[in-house]
Amino acid sequence: MSDQANGDDVFLDAIKRLDTAFEHANIDEEALEKLKHPRQTLQVSIPVRMDDGSLEIFTGYRVRHDDTRGPTKGGLRYHPDVDLSEVKALAFWMTFKCAVVGLPYGGGKGGVTVNPKKLSRMELERLSRGFIAQIADFIGPETDVPAPDVYTNSMIMGWMMDEYSKITRQRTPAVITGKPVPLGGSLGRDDATGRGAYYCIKELEQKRGWKPDEITVAVQGFGNAGQHVARLLHADGYKIVAVSDSKGGIYKEAGFDVPSLIHTKNESRVLKAVYCEGSVCEAIDADNISNEELLELDVDLLLPSALENQITEKNAKDIKAKVIVEVANGPITSEADEILKNQDGILIVPDILANAGGVTVSYFEWVQNKSGYYWDLETVHERLLEIMSREFNNVYDIMINKEIDMRTAAYVLGLNRIGEAVESLGTMKYFAADDLRATKD
Ligand code: GLU
Repeated sequence: MSDQANGDDVFLDAIKRLDTAFEHANIDEEALEKLKHPRQTLQVSIPVRMDDGSLEIFTGYRVRHDDTRGPTKGGLRYHPDVDLSEVKALAFWMTFKCAVVGLPYGGGKGGVTVNPKKLSRMELERLSRGFIAQIADFIGPETDVPAPDVYTNSMIMGWMMDEYSKITRQRTPAVITGKPVPLGGSLGRDDATGRGAYYCIKELEQKRGWKPDEITVAVQGFGNAGQHVARLLHADGYKIVAVSDSKGGIYKEAGFDVPSLIHTKNESRVLKAVYCEGSVCEAIDADNISNEELLELDVDLLLPSALENQITEKNAKDIKAKVIVEVANGPITSEADEILKNQDGILIVPDILANAGGVTVSYFEWVQNKSGYYWDLETVHERLLEIMSREFNNVYDIMINKEIDMRTAAYVLGLNRIGEAVESLGTMKYFAADDLRATKD
């Protein structure tokens, strides 16, 4: 109840988008009503023996938002700010993300309220296995399939799959995706979120006739998604002029050599302005900027790739980017969206499309696990490209034809697909139809 009473409720903010999209969608009101209520919510306590011998209890959540189109699917995040409302919002976005790219899934999400950077590797393993032990009855390859999200990685997914398989006494790779490749992971899952966003940007490049070396890019967040999208764009000649992580950012008008930044960040865990020849890196001139300043840069392309609620009613009017591609989930609040809409010519490629590459390759992984037949990297890339460019164009066309913004267009596409599934099971229009009553008599 308390999360419902909170004025800043992330879930309530997320579902505000539904009503706007409903006006343009072609679905029964019953489907809309269903989507406003997550199907199942689970809260667990995870006791973990710490390295110093003490016992700590962590709180974890798993939410299944809607399973009309298939098993629920979505990541598990480890972050100090994880709470039920956030997990509900993230599960809601997953329902739409899966529908927008046409995957046979509903949406789910989970998380543990923890700062994983403060745990030792063994504590992290005990926490991950303990979490799975608590939610083992809730998840399953045909019910709810977790994956990585903020601050969780393939190794954690491997521990979780192993723990679930021990509990059920059956080797069950399809219970979780984003696993290490030797444990049944898919090739190409590691950079899939960034790559999916990159494929969206390539579609836009064609539509707008962009010349990559004239396009300036700012990337907020240099984790899995941010690093890969920056790397792929840089390789095509895009100018990555600003990058940040949770501690702050760097700016250079001429653009950074992205592989050098990735190399140093992954070696030292610190984002530094460097240029590397082989493994020898030298500091280069660049300005230090804050995360807030990065968001307000006058760039062609802004890629919020960190957490939700980064562009709010407070800073929306100061955003100067011409195109925003939401690589993170929910980086723009609904109030900020309204302000940005009035900014001339701005285009926002919404999260439920832009970052759907991750879950799409998760789907490929699940299919490979279930069939026991594994694909090569080229096949993964080809199929991802096919889905991302098809659905990008579907959303783009809805935006143009209905004269609505791109986020609403993506929700319309998702709503129509979910609505069709709901209607296939019958709505009041079917059950209360006069001709049906007549046949009963
Ligand atoms: N956590 C990712 C997302 O938000 C991936 C989910 C998945 O692969 O199931 O889309």
